[in-house]
Amino acid sequence: KCKTERETSKYIIEKLKSNGFIDIKNVKKLSSGDKVYMLNRDKSVYAAVIGEEKLENGFNLVGSHIDSPRLDLKPNPLYEDAKLALFKTHYYGGIKKYQWTTIPLSLKGVVVKPNGEKVEINIGEKEDEPVFTITDILPHLAEEQYENKIGKAIKGEDLNILVGSIPSSSDSIKENVMKIINEKYGINEIDFYSSELEAVPAFKARHLGFDKSMVAAYGQDDRVCSYTNLLALVNAKPGNKTMVSIFADKEEIGSVGNTSMSTQAFDLFSKMIISKTGNKELSELEMYYNSKMLSADVTAAVDPDYDEVSDVPNGNVIGCGVAIEKYTGGSGKYSASEATAKFTSEVTQIFDKNDVIYQFGVLGKQGKGGGGTIAYILANKGIDVIDCGTPVLAMHSPFEVVSVYDTYMTYLAYKTFFNS
Ligand code: MN
Ligand code: MN
Repeated sequence: KCKTERETSKYIIEKLKSNGFIDIKNVKKLSSGDKVYMLNRDKSVYAAVIGEEKLENGFNLVGSHIDSPRLDLKPNPLYEDAKLALFKTHYYGGIKKYQWTTIPLSLKGVVVKPNGEKVEINIGEKEDEPVFTITDILPHLAEEQYENKIGKAIKGEDLNILVGSIPSSSDSIKENVMKIINEKYGINEIDFYSSELEAVPAFKARHLGFDKSMVAAYGQDDRVCSYTNLLALVNAKPGNKTMVSIFADKEEIGSVGNTSMSTQAFDLFSKMIISKTGNKELSELEMYYNSKMLSADVTAAVDPDYDEVSDVPNGNVIGCGVAIEKYTGGSGKYSASEATAKFTSEVTQIFDKNDVIYQFGVLGKQGKGGGGTIAYILANKGIDVIDCGTPVLAMHSPFEVVSVYDTYMTYLAYKTFFNS
């Protein structure tokens, strides 16, 4: 149901509201047991359940991200070539470009018109709606393409989406497509300047395997951890510690911008909690210093076809529980956020006491690449953070695979951590 950060934010807010959470802007005074949220520009969300303990003892945080790799439309997307109308795209996040051709795509997002009206676009998900696609060269004529390295065979500028082929009365395919778009959405070509439109795989999430032990879907990085984070917060008993869930945007492009984890909008949320609970003297830095966090993000599962990139004894395996990563980053631990031995021990003891089945691993072998999460941003604030999430096969592909069991263990991990 949720394929973009906007759709996910909307779902999260609906779920929070139906569980008694209210917009922190509309609250004057907060006390233990109160539930609040802040929606940041419709693209990221922070939510909290106020605890009984003093805030200077810190939050228990679970932080995930709700953006996923995809294809964004360029500011001037629509053009015509060889009697076809196409949309130019700019890919978002780390994708293997060849995986995004010849699959059904849907188009989602918003266009803001000059009068300020926001038009929502969501086409390609329902059975009776058309889809879109990016074509590829037929094998018969692909001799030159085969000569390229896999990373160069499809270029970013080749990722153009086919959107129409019938000409207008003046023989313009582009004009005819624009006319249909105008009739359907009331927007003009110039309005694409003020739009945020994303093409995403049109596949539905499905059970996978004869035993239905897995789920295959687009965007499970990181909505599998976001969903479990949300359910954990909603279902955890209000307790001693103030529990906070983060649903950040822009992780896939390096956590930059005012909806990303790096934005001080999160500090604003923390400050509102501090002031509305009557702790005006408390600095949020002091509170952060005593806070503990699970960085809720997926990690790579060992793939039997490509196990040469995994250090198997330190790899995460599908069906073996939630994955804890003491550190992320690349070779030489560059840009790594690493949890202390003390905090790691605290987390495993919480899990052991609550029958949370976990495994310890790292993303891959040294020298094979690397990756990060939002962990370092919170760690830089002084918070104790450890990465903890669901192993994924075919991460960042249009059809990512996770285990049902690992997903449930991820949920249990977050819920028990909140209540610790
Ligand atoms: Mn992720
Ligand atoms: Mn990712």
